[in-house]
Amino acid sequence: MNRAGIYIHVPFCRSRCSYCDFATGAFEEALAANYVAALAREIESFDPQGLSREVDTVYFGGGTPSLLKPAQVARVLEAVRGKFDVDEGAEVTLEMNPGTVTPERLHALRGAGVNRASFGAQTFDDRELKRLGRTHTADDTRKTFAELRAAGFDNISFDLIAGLPRQTLAGWERNLEEALALRPEHLSLYLLEVHEGTPLAEQIRQGRYAVPDPDLAAEMYRVMVERAHAAGYEQYEISNFCLPGRESRHNLKYWTGAPFYGFGNSAHSFDGRRTRWSNERDARAYSKLIEERGDAVVSREELDERGAGAEALFLGLRLLSKGVDLAEHRARYHSDVRADYAADLARFDEAGLIEIEGDVLRLTPAGALLSNEVFAAFV
Ligand code: SF4
Repeated sequence: MNRAGIYIHVPFCRSRCSYCDFATGAFEEALAANYVAALAREIESFDPQGLSREVDTVYFGGGTPSLLKPAQVARVLEAVRGKFDVDEGAEVTLEMNPGTVTPERLHALRGAGVNRASFGAQTFDDRELKRLGRTHTADDTRKTFAELRAAGFDNISFDLIAGLPRQTLAGWERNLEEALALRPEHLSLYLLEVHEGTPLAEQIRQGRYAVPDPDLAAEMYRVMVERAHAAGYEQYEISNFCLPGRESRHNLKYWTGAPFYGFGNSAHSFDGRRTRWSNERDARAYSKLIEERGDAVVSREELDERGAGAEALFLGLRLLSKGVDLAEHRARYHSDVRADYAADLARFDEAGLIEIEGDVLRLTPAGALLSNEVFAAFV
């Protein structure tokens, strides 16, 4: 059985960024203490019967997990280690925002077993950070990065966002240069999405900022791919780049159909076969459910063979160089992709969005940019 990944959701932030629609709220010490107690209880009550207990990745996401005290992170990891067989060389990632950690905290986090930092740099332009409602500056990013290295973190990932309000191509290029010059082991690129109900959507409606230009965003993506390659990074997934051997082992689980178990509000899980389940989204309601019954699962879905096959196909296609092995796919899901999607594949092939080499189906660079159109055919 495949080894599983553990996802821990931490739903607190210093303040709310203008574009964010994640399940997070304002950080308060007392709330965080209660929440960590609920997390530990949820993990300790989890019934792993029939599931893989072997775990080789743990990922603290949010939110801003670096707002937790190292002792709270250690408490959660202790619960995870008590319930699962955690590999000695497990990848343990914690998302951090610049300016939310000190050298002492970083040393304590390493002592607790955190060995990878995923770091919300977003941009190195202070005006852009301000427009996003971020509480950090580019100097905070530089300082936190240096502190991470000094604390022994040799596996660091940066998040960058392209297509920000008033961002120009030249500005984006400067950003990239600075990010690449720091040589993080991993880079994740996001194109700004405007979600209804966020302050950013309202600011655009009021005419304060222009609607994001998809052609400019596409050009920024193209420049990112080109610069990252030139700097020695491999684009192993549509939005993710790494130095050799530094893929996010945790995120690979989502794309390769491996099991993962999520804890905390709004966390999702998958048994690695057909069953998915997810937790209550609201943090307070989540804590109440944990108190009452030890779990907070509010939905469960069994995929049929066709649904599981389609999902494996579009998730696998995200892995650009690996792609999907159609013979393996047929053996596992009894689906002949070439025959089942013949018309769509011919259309995508003609448009230069996919390539088939032997038994391997892959997205082309043009297909990576228009991946949602390709994926829609399989859903
Ligand atoms: S730090 Fe991240 S999770 Fe928190 S409000 Fe900003 S974008 Fe959302």
